[in-house]
Amino acid sequence: MTIHRAVVARVRLLTSSMARITFHGEGLAAFRSTGVGDEYVRLFFPHGPDRTDVSLPDSTDNGGWVTPEGRPEAPVRTYTVRAARPEDGEIDIDFVLHGHGTASGWAAAARPGDVIGLNSPTGLYSPPADLGWQVLVSDLSGLPAVGRLIEGTPDGVATRAVLEVPDPSCVPPLPDRPGVRVARTHGGNGHGPSRLAELVAAAIPPGTDLTGGYVWVAGQTNALRDVRRYLRKELKLPAERFKVVGYWIPGADTWTERYRALPDAVRSELSSMWDNPSAAAEEAEDLTIRYEERLSTLGL
Ligand SMILES: Cc1cc2nc3c(=O)[nH]c(=O)nc-3n(C[C@H](O)[C@H](O)[C@H](O)COP(=O)(O)OP(=O)(O)OC[C@H]3O[C@@H](n4cnc5c(N)ncnc54)[C@H](O)[C@@H]3O)c2cc1C
Repeated sequence: MTIHRAVVARVRLLTSSMARITFHGEGLAAFRSTGVGDEYVRLFFPHGPDRTDVSLPDSTDNGGWVTPEGRPEAPVRTYTVRAARPEDGEIDIDFVLHGHGTASGWAAAARPGDVIGLNSPTGLYSPPADLGWQVLVSDLSGLPAVGRLIEGTPDGVATRAVLEVPDPSCVPPLPDRPGVRVARTHGGNGHGPSRLAELVAAAIPPGTDLTGGYVWVAGQTNALRDVRRYLRKELKLPAERFKVVGYWIPGADTWTERYRALPDAVRSELSSMWDNPSAAAEEAEDLTIRYEERLSTLGL
């Protein structure tokens, strides 16, 4: 894993709530896209008011990173690589401007010359070999990935994208591809309760012939707990036929504090649920369901 230094080349407002920021710079010469449509990177932001001063961590042998002692810790957030153009040495990242937070605030004020760090990408979208149709469901945070997934979908794969957005003006134009249907519904995104679970159930109701299908869902983390349970427990989808990824947490600023405030016994109970690192994919999904159910009972 490499940590790259990236410089803002251009900023374009796609909608009132989304900005596309293009990065370039020598630090990106070694950046290698995985080519997977939902590939994401960790972004390392400036720790202080100087927008060109980023305390880049060192990468570690186990794929992580560490900030050398005595250096300030850079705030880290996770973002999708909306486009990588190695021929131009450029990367695009689309930021939701949700009005709070380090990353959103940084993006709203971004100007050419600003500097951030980013690491090597990881992709999660992994459709089965017999892919014949897919359903992509997300709120605004997953829109960059949905756009890139649509671009990369082979002809002949029927694709239905269902987007939960605060209002119609928030959705930038999506790639126009044959066989792709896009539906938008209003809500969620911190403006109201998310209906991602209902949207998934409506798009793939019980009794659907699941042969050749793949389901990808991203968005507000706690709204996705019911999605995972529905796909696994009601539709009985095997783990390789879906991917559910929490993209943002309501009350993220206090989540860690609230988790740390749990009694020691409860925290050990939660961490011991992950003690079996070799759990097969099916078990890992079921374990995640049990873990998330426990978090919900704890108000997290
Ligand atoms: C794999 C992956 C890929 C992602 N790709 C993208 C992407 O391409 N574009 C993108 O914009 N986001 C993306 N996200 C989501 C992004 O990481 C989070 O939204 C992140 O919390 C933003 O950081 P922040 O500093 O702006 O806000 P934080 O400091 O994390 O949070 C501050 C407050 O803002 C709220 N908040 C955070 N995100 C949102 C949101 N999207 N809508 C409404 N309220 C919010 C939190 O609940 C919290 O109360 C991705 C996340 C993952 C895990």
